[in-house]
Amino acid sequence: VIKEKYGSNYNIFESAISEKFKAMLTMESELRKALKDGQFELHYQPQKNLNSDEIVGMEALLRWKHPLKGYIPPDDFIGLAEKTGLIIDIGDWVLQEACRQNKAWQDKGFQPVVVGVNLSAKQLYQRELVGKVKKILDETGLAPGYLELEITETMAMTNEENILETIQCLRQLGVMVSIDDFGTGYSSFKYLSVFPVTKLKIDKMFINENREQNQAIVKSIIHMSHSLNMKVIAEGVETVDQLRFLTDEACDEMQGFYFSKPLPPEKLTKLL
Ligand code: C2E
Ligand code: MG
Ligand code: MG
Ligand code: MG
Repeated sequence: VIKEKYGSNYNIFESAISEKFKAMLTMESELRKALKDGQFELHYQPQKNLNSDEIVGMEALLRWKHPLKGYIPPDDFIGLAEKTGLIIDIGDWVLQEACRQNKAWQDKGFQPVVVGVNLSAKQLYQRELVGKVKKILDETGLAPGYLELEITETMAMTNEENILETIQCLRQLGVMVSIDDFGTGYSSFKYLSVFPVTKLKIDKMFINENREQNQAIVKSIIHMSHSLNMKVIAEGVETVDQLRFLTDEACDEMQGFYFSKPLPPEKLTKLL
């Protein structure tokens, strides 16, 4: 049918599909190899408390150091890792490594900080997640309050019964749970009233896209977070004006290039 419809264009059509498919298969096997060969790294972006001016947290951000192509950003491979299910093994590594690194910093005598780890949907929906997190905390010796799991609104919205139970169990362990990219997903206030979330992360588009409406939105999110006893952090802070606005509005924390880009652990050790 396709051949009839596209006539002589069919060959181009077919080869375009198979090129894309081949590239995906190549990347899938490269991702497996990357995990086996230790090509993944975590970089950390510090988060500052706007009251005390101290670093109180950092977000672990995945980097793939490809042997030929150099650093590949997560947006270029997380999607495929999700589709193929590889994200489970990659995510296990991320959790383990972030907890290990954070405990190592504490053991060196630095002021303790919370490490934020991004979860993907597949990870959140696994039955074993809570057990895995507990095991990693036990093995690394990191106190649960120094781990924050970041989920998105869209992840929180689906399959609600199980997710609620998972988040409640994580909170019972003492692990923090934040909503990442807040305001850009299927925002529903229902889950905010039900889920024991500890922090909202205001998406960077509201912070650094210069539109008048954004300031009103940011103010409201800060106000709402505090009314619901949640902390609130602004992502993507790039200028001193943005920082001033957030300080004036009593936002708790900030994260962004204005303060620091995500850095490899050696560089962060210096900053700490
Ligand atoms: P995210 O969790 O929202 O992480 C914040 C992203 O914003 C990071 O991009 C960070 O480098 C960038 N960013 C921070 N400050 C600024 C700023 O001031 N301006 C601008 N323009 N950008 C800023 P990155 O590292 O490329 O990560 C992209 C996304 O990939 C993350 O968004 C997260 O959704 C995903 N990701 C990263 N690491 C992991 C991981 O270990 N597991 C999973 N499942 N997803 C991950
Ligand atoms: Mg995040
Ligand atoms: Mg974010
Ligand atoms: Mg994101």
